[in-house]
Amino acid sequence: MRTLKFGVKGDDVAAWQRFLQSQNLLNADEPDGIFGQETLTATVAFQRQHGLVPDGVVGQATITIAQETGFQPVQVTDLAGLVAIPSGINAGLSPAHLQTMLSLFGQPGQLTSGCSRITNAELARETVTESVGPFRVTGWQPAVARLRDIFTQAAAAEPEVVNQVQTAGMSCVRRVAGSQNFSNHSFGTAVDLFFGPDVDPRGDPHTQLGILKLAPFFHSARWYWGAGFPTVDSMHFEMSDELIREVKGGGSRIVVAPDFVAPQLVNPPTNPPVGIPIRLPDYAQDVLSAAQGVPWSNAGAMPQYSGYLGMMPGSLFYVFHNLVGLPGVTSAAFYECKLSSDNDGSASPDDADPSFHDPDHQNNTSLHDASGKALNAFVDAYAVLPLDQSETSTNKHGLPDFGADLGLRIGDVGVAFWRESNSGAPRQCFYIYGDKGPAVKLGEGSVKMEVQLGVPGAEKGNGHEASEIIAMHKGIIHIGFIGSGTPFLVPGHPDQTTLDATGVIALGQKLFAAFKNQPV
Ligand SMILES: [Zn+2]
Repeated sequence: MRTLKFGVKGDDVAAWQRFLQSQNLLNADEPDGIFGQETLTATVAFQRQHGLVPDGVVGQATITIAQETGFQPVQVTDLAGLVAIPSGINAGLSPAHLQTMLSLFGQPGQLTSGCSRITNAELARETVTESVGPFRVTGWQPAVARLRDIFTQAAAAEPEVVNQVQTAGMSCVRRVAGSQNFSNHSFGTAVDLFFGPDVDPRGDPHTQLGILKLAPFFHSARWYWGAGFPTVDSMHFEMSDELIREVKGGGSRIVVAPDFVAPQLVNPPTNPPVGIPIRLPDYAQDVLSAAQGVPWSNAGAMPQYSGYLGMMPGSLFYVFHNLVGLPGVTSAAFYECKLSSDNDGSASPDDADPSFHDPDHQNNTSLHDASGKALNAFVDAYAVLPLDQSETSTNKHGLPDFGADLGLRIGDVGVAFWRESNSGAPRQCFYIYGDKGPAVKLGEGSVKMEVQLGVPGAEKGNGHEASEIIAMHKGIIHIGFIGSGTPFLVPGHPDQTTLDATGVIALGQKLFAAFKNQPV
């Protein structure tokens, strides 16, 4: 059993607390699993009673005596144990540069060595103290909200890790030790984590096991891990430069991966949206240019949607409007995003491939067929829409709704494009918006959609996460025809459509053909 002392959390601490209760040394209703002041006092009392060194540390000698008195130790994984830091941990992400931070936030306060007061009025106003699940922190509100989402996701997969994680703080106006730069803690966009009684010191080439287990959740939320700093700081995570620009820049800035060169349209539209370069990935230049009939002169950029997680950095969200000749449709949404796998609606979490088990599998989808049955991710090409604010308690940080604001709803039809390789014809897939997903995320699609688009390993749930599309410099393009599904909804049942897989393709072809044939 590991050594327990002040500050340690876990099921083994709870077992120790129950033992102290049985010895009438601890008065608590329920053991909370946190080795705090009362547990310390009770431990010292136990040690005094038994002639042990009264240091409040539950080490081998104390455990041995306690076992003679009926204590049954509980083994937990030692998440504080040190392990090697793998490579590629921050793929596609950059640390938040001081220049970025100062230009977006301004000076946070004084460049002190210890924590000092936030003197920046706006930052002070946006700094909150809230629970993020395992503990309370003080930090910049959008960072705190994201941290809470990260722990919610991590808790579903790694409950023991989230149960034991502790923080060494978030907001703290100060300089980086040994430099004249503000630490990103000064803006409240970084957090320090640890397991067990002590933090893993800076400069050590290892990380605690628990931190390694949390790292993927931070990465997919686009936080940069300090294990990648020149001076390894493995307890530190911060909102990446890319994410900060997107969130603090209000989404109005064009966020570009560090080494990203925007491809030019082969045939630029004659009347592009003023001041906004249209970015098309390599495979799309020949199929989605104005020369191919895509009505770019009808497109307006809606950068507020670029704040959705999963959007390809450097891309913009467009809406084509004043379209004519499409059945029941006058506008279409255009965006480039990741494509992660959804196998909802299929028979079981393992049905495609017994070697793949999807723990997030649900046998229902938001949209049903005409008989009320869920769609099947292996049969129906469907894309997932983010939940509207009215449908979730997740704070969307001012992101607009797809349904309420844009009018894009489940049952609507769209067309998607992708090319995995660097040459050859892109793949095309007509799809239906068939399911709803996390409120702030975009870019999930059914296995069938991935197979049609030629995403490798789709059946095994290996779609393309945001880090991969960033590394490839191209995302999956969607054109969603707003309102196209309404005529096919079953009267009185807005979650049922009469369109089957064949119907989706027929309608999609008709819509896309008319979309590319606008009067000039
Ligand atoms: Zn830190």
